[in-house]
Amino acid sequence: MITGIQTGAYVFASILFILSLGGLSSIESSKRGVLYGILGMIVAVAATVFGKYVQGHIYIIVAIVAASSIGIVLAKRVKMESMPQLVALLHSFVGLAAVLVGIGSFLDVGIKEITNTEKTIHLTEVFIGVFIGAITFTGSIVAWGKLDGKISSKSLLFKGRHFLNIFLVLVCVVLGVCFVISLDNLGLNYLIAMTFIAGLIGYFLVMAIGGADMPVVVSMLNSYSGWAASSAGFMLGNDLLIITGALVGSSGAILSIIMCKAMNRSFVSVILGGFGTVSKSSESAVIEGEITALMHDEVSQLLKEAKSIVIVPGYGMAVAKAQYPIYEMVKELQKSGKKVHFAIHPVAGRLPGHMNVLLAEANVPYDIVMEMDEINDDMSSTDVVMVIGANDIVNPGAEDDPSSPIYGMPVIKAWKAEHVIIMKRSMSTGYAGIENPLFYKTNAHMLYGDAKESVDRILGFLKSSQ
Ligand code: NDP
Repeated sequence: MITGIQTGAYVFASILFILSLGGLSSIESSKRGVLYGILGMIVAVAATVFGKYVQGHIYIIVAIVAASSIGIVLAKRVKMESMPQLVALLHSFVGLAAVLVGIGSFLDVGIKEITNTEKTIHLTEVFIGVFIGAITFTGSIVAWGKLDGKISSKSLLFKGRHFLNIFLVLVCVVLGVCFVISLDNLGLNYLIAMTFIAGLIGYFLVMAIGGADMPVVVSMLNSYSGWAASSAGFMLGNDLLIITGALVGSSGAILSIIMCKAMNRSFVSVILGGFGTVSKSSESAVIEGEITALMHDEVSQLLKEAKSIVIVPGYGMAVAKAQYPIYEMVKELQKSGKKVHFAIHPVAGRLPGHMNVLLAEANVPYDIVMEMDEINDDMSSTDVVMVIGANDIVNPGAEDDPSSPIYGMPVIKAWKAEHVIIMKRSMSTGYAGIENPLFYKTNAHMLYGDAKESVDRILGFLKSSQ
C-alpha cells in the first residue's frame, strides 16, 4: 500500500476513534460510538497489515483469524456479571503485548543500524514501554483475580511497602541507565531484570488496593494499558498506535479521576497503590437494631400503597439477570399512576456504567434512570425504595461510621425513604466485605431470595390484583 494512502487511512481511523469516545460518553449515542470504534479498528488493522515493509501476510491473516475467532467465542460466552474480569484480562494482554514488542524491538537486527542520540532515544522508548507494559500485565492479572474472587478483595497492607515500591522503582531507574549505555548483549539482561521487577511493582500496587476502591483500579489499568499501547507505538514508529494509546490512556485517567471524585478518594493515593491509606480500626461500630423480613405479597402490598418508588440496582441484579422482570414490574407500577425511578450509584456492579448497560439492555427508558446525585435529595420524600442486589452502595456506615473502610464514600441514602425493601439471598456482605447497618433500621425490611425470582413473584401479585 502506498504510504500516502496508509497515512490517510490512519488519520481516518484516528477520527473514528475520537468519534467513538465521544459516542460512548452518553447512553443514547453509545451504540454509535461502538460502531465507530469497530470501523476504526478495521481500517487501522487493514492499513497496517497491507502497509509498506510488511511481509508474511499469510501468517498475519492466520493469526488475526485465529485470535478473532477466540475473541468472538469468548465475548459470546462471557456472562454479563463476568465482564469486568474479562476487561481486566484484556488489559493484561495489552501490557504483555507492550513487553513483547519492546523485547522484540530490542532484538531486531535493524536496531544495530541506528547510532548515537537516535539509539539512546529508541532504547529509552523500549525501556519505558516494557516498564509500563510489565506493570500493566501483573496489575491486571491481580485485578482479574480480585474481581473473580480468586484473590481476596482485601487490601494487602504491610509495613514498609511504600519504601519497597520506591526501592524497586529506583532499581529500575538504575537498570534503565545501565541498559541505555550498555553494550548490546548485556542490555537484554538489564531489560529482562527490569521486566521482572516492574511486574512485581504492578503486583504490589494492585494488591494494596482494597475492595471498595477496586473500580478506580479497573479504570486506572485501562489508562495504563493505553499508555502501554502508546509506548509500543513509539517503539514500532506507528503514529496510529501512539494516538490510539494516548486516547485510551487519557480517557482512562479522566475516568479514574471521575471515579475517585465519586468515591471521595484521592486520585494520587489510589494510583500509588493506596499511598496514605491506613488500615481502618478493626473495631467497627456495633450495629444496633433488629432485622425484619417480609414476604413477596407483603412487598407487593407496600408497592400498591406507594405513590413514589425508587429502585436501587446493584451487582446482584447483574448476577440474577433481573433487569428484564424489573422493567416489567416498573411498567406495571407506572400503569397504576406511580412515580418510579432508578437510582444509579457510580460504582454499582463491577464495572463503570455496569447498571446503565444492563438497564439499556432491558430497554428501560433513560429518562427514569437517575444518577445518585440527582436523586439523593428526593429520598426523604420517597415512599418505597427497593434495593435490588445492592449492598455497599447503600451502606449508611459510609456516612456515620469513621471506622468503616468505605467511610467518606458517597452512597445512595436509601434509609431516608419511608420504607426500604432489601432484596438479596442472605445476610452476606457485598464486595467490600463489610456489614451493612441499613438492614437493621426500623424502616428496612429484607426480602430474601434470588432477585429475579423475587421480582417475578412480586410482579405476579401486582398483576393478579389488577
Ligand atoms: P455489592 O457487591 O456490595 O453487593 C451485591 C449484593 O448482591 C450482595 O450482598 C449479594 O448478597 C447480592 N446478590 C448476589 N447475587 C444475588 C442474586 N442472584 N439475587 C439477589 N441478590 C444477589 O454490590 P453493589 O453493586 O452494591 O456495590 C458494588 C461494589 O463493588 C462496591 O464495593 C464497589 O466498590 C465494588 N466494585 C465496583 C466496580 C465498578 O467499577 N463498579 C469494580 C470493582 C469493584 P447475597 O449473597 O446475600 O445475595
